[in-house]
Amino acid sequence: MTMPEANSMAAADSPQALNIAQVAIDVPLDGVFDYHSPYPLLIGQRVVVPFGARKQVGVVTALPASTDLAPAKLKSVLQHFGEEPVLDAEFFALIRFCADYYQYPFGQALLSALPGRLRQTEPATARQQFSYSLNDTGVQAGLDALPPRQVVQRRLYAALLEHGALSESALTALSPGWRKAMAALQQLGWINEQQVYAGLRTALTASSVQPELNAEQAEAVSAILQQAQSFKPWLLHGITGSGKTEVYIRLLQSLLANNEDQALVLVPEINLTPQLEARFRTRLPDFPLVSLHSNLGESERLQNWRLAQSGAARIVIGTRLSVFTPMPRLKLIIVDEEHDTSYKQQDSMRYHARDVALVRAQRRQIPILLGSATPALETWHNAQSGRYGLLSLRQRAVSQSQLPAIRCVDVSKVSMQDGLSPQLIKAIRERMEKGEQSLLFINRRGYAPVLLCNACHWIAPCMRCSSRLVVHLRQGRLRCHHCGHEQKIVRQCPSCGNPDLHPTGHGTQRLEETLNQLLPGARVLRVDRDSTRRKNALSDMLSAVHAGEVDVLVGTQMLAKGHDFPNLTLVGVLDTDSALFSPDFRASERLFAQLMQVAGRAGRADKPGEVLIQTTFPEHTLFNALRSQDFTAYAGSLLQERETTQFPPYEFLALIKAEANDFVPVQRFLQYAADTAREFGSEALVYDPVRPQMERLKGMERGQLLMQASSRQVMQPLLRQLTPLLRQHPLSNKIRWAIDVDPQEF
Ligand code: ADP
Ligand code: ZN
Ligand code: ZN
Repeated sequence: MTMPEANSMAAADSPQALNIAQVAIDVPLDGVFDYHSPYPLLIGQRVVVPFGARKQVGVVTALPASTDLAPAKLKSVLQHFGEEPVLDAEFFALIRFCADYYQYPFGQALLSALPGRLRQTEPATARQQFSYSLNDTGVQAGLDALPPRQVVQRRLYAALLEHGALSESALTALSPGWRKAMAALQQLGWINEQQVYAGLRTALTASSVQPELNAEQAEAVSAILQQAQSFKPWLLHGITGSGKTEVYIRLLQSLLANNEDQALVLVPEINLTPQLEARFRTRLPDFPLVSLHSNLGESERLQNWRLAQSGAARIVIGTRLSVFTPMPRLKLIIVDEEHDTSYKQQDSMRYHARDVALVRAQRRQIPILLGSATPALETWHNAQSGRYGLLSLRQRAVSQSQLPAIRCVDVSKVSMQDGLSPQLIKAIRERMEKGEQSLLFINRRGYAPVLLCNACHWIAPCMRCSSRLVVHLRQGRLRCHHCGHEQKIVRQCPSCGNPDLHPTGHGTQRLEETLNQLLPGARVLRVDRDSTRRKNALSDMLSAVHAGEVDVLVGTQMLAKGHDFPNLTLVGVLDTDSALFSPDFRASERLFAQLMQVAGRAGRADKPGEVLIQTTFPEHTLFNALRSQDFTAYAGSLLQERETTQFPPYEFLALIKAEANDFVPVQRFLQYAADTAREFGSEALVYDPVRPQMERLKGMERGQLLMQASSRQVMQPLLRQLTPLLRQHPLSNKIRWAIDVDPQEF
């Protein structure tokens, strides 16, 4: 296969004048396919072609002068979409690189990087989208000018006031009946309607004031600006609230002024895009901005993507997939929370968006800024060795906002009440008396993690997974959190007949119940995947917290990220000990990051915060580092450990994962892979196939094969040799398998 080139439209003057087009299609075969075209085509154009018995959408990747196919075998392009903008060479090259690096079929990689509308065999159109904001009259009128019974109008008003501007899909998410309420607000003359990507020229919030940068921020901005014309990765290391986002804003202001350049800002989670989007819109009103994430309606997604592709959108804020968005004048990439695990795609092409962004920046010779309070060890290693520039922000940017005090409560030394230590209960009470809020963080939803028989030690298992069923008492159900299997709670032990089974351990539901008993009158709110299933539930809950209608929040990691509650001064952490001794070599790195993030929730404004961690191992090095909030020291010790144990970032890993109803073919396939890989004489270390920690998942028996190499230059040739052979293996179509390069989960 050749790389598409822009100048290969030579077929027209060959004697046969047969127009040949190479087309990438969404099929699990690595290669492009030759077709005859009745029309003149352009590279990067979408077409519809016959493939087998079906019509498929494809993209023209080259226009070669000839084909090896016999004329009788050459099928014709059925349709082309000549009026649509074409994909550029940079896009192809990036996809090509990823398909090779992650061992994934090129056509599938390419098509999956496009918005849904462009994967259909129809012309793709996007209805013109609008966004709405309050004008000055609207802001001055105030919420109370709207009668209480106008619930939807009031809700829209409050949301517009908070976010500045909202797009149609954001409004639909807020309230399906928003159009009628918006029309009423427009009647009042309160609303600006603008194209979805326009900047926002109002001074709605304090965030539109430009603060003076502190010395470290100013240094960071000027260091990056000085080398803005070439490839240079930077790590911006600073705790939550240290002013990283402010640095992003200043950089964008400087780099995008007086030109037509573009910038791409990657964020880990959809939930976080509206906040960042609102802040960018008010602070960067001169630059058309679009967001790209999977919560957008298809029409808006296509429109935003095209605005990026045409260069009209100057700033793109997006999640993982938007790293592939064509941006002809891209001059800067920012990856916020670069350590976040959601940057790694866990199925189909298992790419890591941060790593792809680095490759993209290198190919374009532009700077890339990675921001985090707890950088990934891979990134930290590169910053320490000097390959990346290191920029540190050592203090919180708002001077009166202090770091929270972090303390451990040794739970082996106190008598606990349903999972809560006396210290924690007392601390919650004190906050309630002062009218402040507390957050209890527990990474287990449901009532109790297991249902146990005290007589024979039977524990309710999931039949489809190697896991236990979680007790959901209120619903009277046992649920598997891995496969979704559900059943009624059993009353009697199926193993010994004991009628007295106990929910054992603590989950969010039980904690909520305990708090209601221990603290009568406390307003407790549980935020987990169960309680937020209803549409808008999460945003309603967050507004309730902001409105001071909640005393104690009980939540899972959903609450760890990004949300800023000024009145929250206490964070309690329950049940982290299992992660201290997990077999996953990344467990402590992640626990540290997670706890730093949770701690960042406490005391953001002028009130000092406190974090209480309940543990049996208060002297563990992780907690020592956390107490002094010393990422540098902790990362140093983890890196030493990784070097001794030969794990990333010192070694590079690839994993072949396979599963089937029966383990025998899985084993046979992986053994073949291991034997074959060893025959190549590569320096890479090929382990024996093993079963992962979760041996069975959703009824599938699983196995995996780990390969380890000292560099990508050793790993990549091995994978390149191995993958085609695996694809040809007779079992290849009978089992499910995938290659995971630089795996994050084992
Ligand atoms: P981070 O992205 O690191 O969490 P932010 O950029 O959001 O930090 O800054 C935290 C808070 O401090 C924000 O309210 C921001 O407006 C404010 N801030 C940032 N830089 C400064 C500064 N130099 N002077 C005053 N306030 C600042
Ligand atoms: Zn029993
Ligand atoms: Zn299950």
